Amino acid sequence: MSKQYRITLLPGDGIGPEIMAVTVAVLKQVGSQLNVGFEFQEALIGGAAIDATGNPLPDETLEICRNSDAVLLAAIGGYKWDNLPRHQRPETGLLGLRAGLGLFANLRPAQILPQLIDASSLKREVVEDVDMMVVRELTGGIYFGQPKGIFETETGEKRGVNTMVYSESEIDRIGRVAFETAQKRGGKLCSVDKANVLDVSQLWRDRMIQLSSEYPDVELSHLYVDNAAMQLIRAPKQFDTIVTGNLFGDILSDAAAMLTGSIGMLPSASLGSTGPGVYEPVHGSAPDIAGQDKANPMAQVLSAAMMLRYGLNEPEAAYRLEQAVLKVLDAGYRTGDIMSDGMKQVGCQEMGQALMQALG
Ligand code: NAD
Repeated sequence: MSKQYRITLLPGDGIGPEIMAVTVAVLKQVGSQLNVGFEFQEALIGGAAIDATGNPLPDETLEICRNSDAVLLAAIGGYKWDNLPRHQRPETGLLGLRAGLGLFANLRPAQILPQLIDASSLKREVVEDVDMMVVRELTGGIYFGQPKGIFETETGEKRGVNTMVYSESEIDRIGRVAFETAQKRGGKLCSVDKANVLDVSQLWRDRMIQLSSEYPDVELSHLYVDNAAMQLIRAPKQFDTIVTGNLFGDILSDAAAMLTGSIGMLPSASLGSTGPGVYEPVHGSAPDIAGQDKANPMAQVLSAAMMLRYGLNEPEAAYRLEQAVLKVLDAGYRTGDIMSDGMKQVGCQEMGQALMQALG
């Protein structure tokens, strides 16, 4: 093997192990085709980790993740653990993983696949050819700024407070990820803020303009967040890469994702400045269909493609996985979540076999 990568696998809960098994099989196949080696190490997270150790993110898991080139996560959570105290909940494991690896950038692509265009709630001519990436700042902004809390005033009235705050260095590091992402895509970056009202957004905009001189091959534009929300629904094709803060990104990335209409198809990546990124589907652990061979493995496979493209710099392998997904959709294979008239409904395992065949 010319290259060898250490990949941590976190199958987690619910449908996680089913979709992870498919993904590992396709990764092995594409690796052997391109002479790229993967050394997989599985670790516990979420409910599975709680059952085994009492802790949703055992120290050993974080250590294994830190020592790898990339982390492939499926999903965590389920009814069984819903009533545990917060620090013992599966979600706490996920937040701990993000914090422990310093993942400040969240990348969420929204691409309309021609085969699934009717799953979108918008008109075909509006969403056709949509292919965008939302880069969201994940560890700063109003979700973390101080002061925060509910305070009692002198009159006894309560006041809820959150603080939207970004420092230059926080803006610059997410800006760099966004410019570099745009370079790997269509070369257009739209920064979304509320600079007409918010000082923190004015600083955001100033820094983005400053940074753009380092990336002459990327065309930078700006939109206020209210206009960005309208443009996403009115004319989403205009976007290539979007960069925005934590709060605006939380909302806009979900809106962008829903242009595609199919949760079982959506991957994501979370990146830090050094160390491994975490690549995971946008969907959860789908406990309602877990263990029934009904899950759509494609968001997980596309997350592996993101890992190859953005984490390991193996664009050819990423391209092959993406093409395999398109081929099986062209051939009419559908899991229940994306099923439509005249298509062939298959389970998770059969979809995996179809993907392997499409890879050749
Ligand atoms: P969900 O995404 O798990 O499921 C929503 C619906 O979509 C369900 O009907 C499910 O069957 C379906 N679905 C999701 N992924 C699918 C796939 N790959 N193939 C076919 N159908 C799919 O969201 P939820 O039901 O709100 O949450 C379930 C559990 O997942 C909860 O415990 C929640 O906390 C957890 N969760 C985890 C993550 C994560 O790991 N990042 C994200 C969201 C929710």
